[in-house]
Amino acid sequence: MLDEFAHEPRVAYFTMEIALRNEIPTYAGGLGILAGDTMRSATDLDMPMVAVSLVSRAGYFRQEIDAQGRQLEHPAIWDPRQWAKPLDAKIAVPIDGRMVWIGAWLYVLEGSMGGRQPVLLLDTDLNENSSEDREITHYLYGGDITYRLKQEIVLGIGGVRLLQAAGFNIRHYHMNEGHSALLGLELMRRYTYSAEEVRPGETPYDIPRVRDLCSFTTHTPVEAGHDRFPYDMVQRILDNGFDIRVIRSLAGDDSLNMTRLALNLSEFVNGVAKRHAEISNAMFPGYKVHAITNGVHPFTWASENFRQLYDHYLPGWCHEPQLLMRADCCMPEAAIWEAHVQAKRHLIEKVQLLTGTVLKPDIPILGFARRMTAYKRPDLLFSDLNRLQEIARSHPFQIVLAGKAHPKDESGKQMIEQLHAHARALSGSIPVAYLPEYDMALAQTLTAGVDVWVNTPLPPLEASGTSGMKAAFNGVPNLSVLDGWWVEGCIEGVSGWAIGDAAGIPGDNARTLYDKLEQVVLPLYFNADRSGWIRVMKNAISKNASYFNSHRMMRRYATEAYAR
Ligand SMILES: *Cc1c(COP(=O)(O)O)cnc(C)c1O
Repeated sequence: MLDEFAHEPRVAYFTMEIALRNEIPTYAGGLGILAGDTMRSATDLDMPMVAVSLVSRAGYFRQEIDAQGRQLEHPAIWDPRQWAKPLDAKIAVPIDGRMVWIGAWLYVLEGSMGGRQPVLLLDTDLNENSSEDREITHYLYGGDITYRLKQEIVLGIGGVRLLQAAGFNIRHYHMNEGHSALLGLELMRRYTYSAEEVRPGETPYDIPRVRDLCSFTTHTPVEAGHDRFPYDMVQRILDNGFDIRVIRSLAGDDSLNMTRLALNLSEFVNGVAKRHAEISNAMFPGYKVHAITNGVHPFTWASENFRQLYDHYLPGWCHEPQLLMRADCCMPEAAIWEAHVQAKRHLIEKVQLLTGTVLKPDIPILGFARRMTAYKRPDLLFSDLNRLQEIARSHPFQIVLAGKAHPKDESGKQMIEQLHAHARALSGSIPVAYLPEYDMALAQTLTAGVDVWVNTPLPPLEASGTSGMKAAFNGVPNLSVLDGWWVEGCIEGVSGWAIGDAAGIPGDNARTLYDKLEQVVLPLYFNADRSGWIRVMKNAISKNASYFNSHRMMRRYATEAYAR
């Protein structure tokens, strides 16, 4: 089964979550979508890789929202047998004093252009294991910190061992966020000098060799967001024969900081946008953090109508999305507008089906969907309902929202309730629909079908953001705070619009958001001559989609990170 993949040297891409397809709920949000798009682009570009993740049999969760707007969480159980094949290879790793057996499922990612790429989904739900250990790979981001450490041992250490047992030939390791950083320790164990080669006081580990083999992408612009494990827990749970002093010297003195460990064991380190790399460089003095700005996968995120349009006017765009830079000159206005009208119709049908709310096709729709968590400020748009209604009296608009809050993020869940309360308060003046169960398929419908994609993170906390790039692939302009990718993507009034300024003074942003909507965005939409609006749509494609795609991103990883 593996013959097809086993011999060619590959880059192993380690990630806690990955969005392979809508039916497989092994992702929670942007990090997993990025991992999926990474592998999809590698497939289209014929870059031999293998992704390693957890099988997460109970998924993240399925979101239901009750009449009061409270989020109810249900397990999103999926059956790996339906989509993947079990591998014969099995390995064992000591965890919490027991040997835990780890197997893997092979999912074959089939590209839109004929390529195939292996994905290994690690699984501890094996007869050999105790019932407790069988659950280690069940819940994505579930359980407590001990459970998380066990998962990260399975991912990092188990992943490296399983790749070897299955016969893969790995030439480079890429850690997508710090969750998999323990893989570096496993490589250190592999590359150890013999006792005769080591002088007194020297460690036996060939760390330069390990570093050469590893790249690390950090995604979190705040220290508090990095996984840390107390060393007494590490000593109890992780038994890999390491002197704890060695781990301390690499991962921080007070606790095992996965980001520190990854930084110290990777030659190439990058942030996911230019601004984010600057912040990371300030956060980690002494390390060089490069910037490789994220992108989204062209075929996946262009709607059917836009795919057809691009195929017709810019053939080859799926392999070379830079061709989209010609969209502003080469594509007729009417064709773009018609493709958008179709995508909007599809969204309006979905909104009615899911919520009963009937939206109007000739009134603009503002879209906001992402993980519901405090720094994304989903409530910013609703901070002054009177002002919002006043704007709508001269220029009517509609709002579609979606997003999940992590089950333990109480403030995120409260925000979902508040958004529902705002929707009720606005009924009769501004239609607001909140769609449950934000997933890949809903993201496709939403980012293609709205007229403006809104994003209001609290700077500098949005490392990159990617949903706005999906919108750009569908000619949908962004109205966003200047943070993450939008710092690079926004050409004011040309490719979309900024809210506030780069300093991002929070109090200012609601007012500047309202001002920009009322004075610039909505008047342009309602202008009797639609060509001004369509020009911005075209520029979203030619200026943003042509660059913020995962093909460009992967070509950069290939030349700057993997080619060492
Ligand atoms: C793209 C996507 C995200 C990430 O969106 P951001 O704008 O980066 O927050 C999250 N969830 C789903 C389902 C997505 O498709």
